[in-house]
Amino acid sequence: MFPQSVFPDTAQIDSKGELSIGGCSASDLADEYGTPVYVLDEETLRARCRSFIDEFRKLYPNTNVSYASKAYINPALARIFQEEGMGFDVVSGGELATLIASEVSTGEIYFHGNNKTPQELSEALNNSIGWVVVDSFHELRLLDQLAREAGKTQDILIRVSPGVDPHTHVYTTTGVLDSKFGFSIQTGHAAEAVRMGLAAENLNLRGLHFHLGSPIFELEPYRVATELVLKFAAEFREEGLEMTRFSPGGGFAIGYTRDQEPPPVSDYAETIVSTMTATCQELGMEPPSLVIEPGRAIIGPAGVALYRIGAIKDVPGVRKFVSVDGGMGDNIRPALYQAEYEVVAATKANQEPGEKVTIAGKYCESGDLLASDIMLPSLESGDLLAIPAAGAYCPSMASNYNMNPRPPMVLVKDGKSRLIRRRESYQDLMHCDVV
Ligand SMILES: *Cc1c(COP(=O)(O)O)cnc(C)c1O
Repeated sequence: MFPQSVFPDTAQIDSKGELSIGGCSASDLADEYGTPVYVLDEETLRARCRSFIDEFRKLYPNTNVSYASKAYINPALARIFQEEGMGFDVVSGGELATLIASEVSTGEIYFHGNNKTPQELSEALNNSIGWVVVDSFHELRLLDQLAREAGKTQDILIRVSPGVDPHTHVYTTTGVLDSKFGFSIQTGHAAEAVRMGLAAENLNLRGLHFHLGSPIFELEPYRVATELVLKFAAEFREEGLEMTRFSPGGGFAIGYTRDQEPPPVSDYAETIVSTMTATCQELGMEPPSLVIEPGRAIIGPAGVALYRIGAIKDVPGVRKFVSVDGGMGDNIRPALYQAEYEVVAATKANQEPGEKVTIAGKYCESGDLLASDIMLPSLESGDLLAIPAAGAYCPSMASNYNMNPRPPMVLVKDGKSRLIRRRESYQDLMHCDVV
């Protein structure tokens, strides 16, 4: 059966067994733009923004939703997110430059990262971005000094590490003691950072942030960490900490395979908001503005990667390798974190699965496998494969390994498609080389 739950809202299989997204058929998209191609469904993208904004504001109107640009950003998408009323998280000068070039308002930009360079911090100051989320003692001193030199006072949040394990892959776990991110509450470093932040003349410390990791399928880690961090904040009231902003980060899960059931956005909202309001009441604290930072949960479900099958190699009794024209260069997640995906035969979606196959990429690494030991209909060279839930952390982590050009991005809506990033050319690959 077609795994509708992991595909964009508009994805369908027609009577001939062909996949369409946003009213555009997979084979037309592949013919027009070539393969591999990343297809983004505009309706799903906008619906995901609205669901985060609406579900949180329904319970707590004083909520801002900040899109985590690292999941994937470009100017066309930045405009859509701005239209939907989202703010933005960035983690580099390059992401910031993309947003500045897209003319989004800078007041609701949050700059994260464990080692922002002096140049990046200056860029943040020069562009008057709303918030820097300070992650280290080094950064506290550096930003204060740079702000002084620029004659500015920068609003900041401090990123604390609450020591709560969200039970996800170790590479995407961030809020525990053994992490490069944030000031640990447990070690006393968070307390020291708050005092330094309050004392810094050119910094205005206005609240705390944490981010536990991603994807987080459980609600409990958000509840435990929210309570813990607000209680920690309350200890500094008399020393002058006014919690006007509180961010429990992102990490909201999506379904990658048909058997996964991530909590609905409303459950995350209910958990975070009810914990925050109850804890604030208990502490006699004015509830702060709430900032949530979904990335994956916004763009992940909107994206589908389309590949064309080339070589098929059957090793009798061992494995059948079906190779496609992309792989780890456009989707590193299976190789990096053993991520699993559904794979659909985009023009044979009505046919019964009859073969166990492994989908291999074209890159010169044995680990370049997109999916292992999955059941698909009988496949031939030239068939199209679709991998859903591919909008987040695939194109944004793409590389030019093997000097392969990175694929294009196409936005679909109401039967029309629009290129929002063209395929790279061989010239692009050599653009920066100096002979
Ligand atoms: C990566 C990141 C996010 C977004 O994580 P998702 O899993 O994409 O929702 C939010 N906040 C911070 C600080 C991050 O580093």
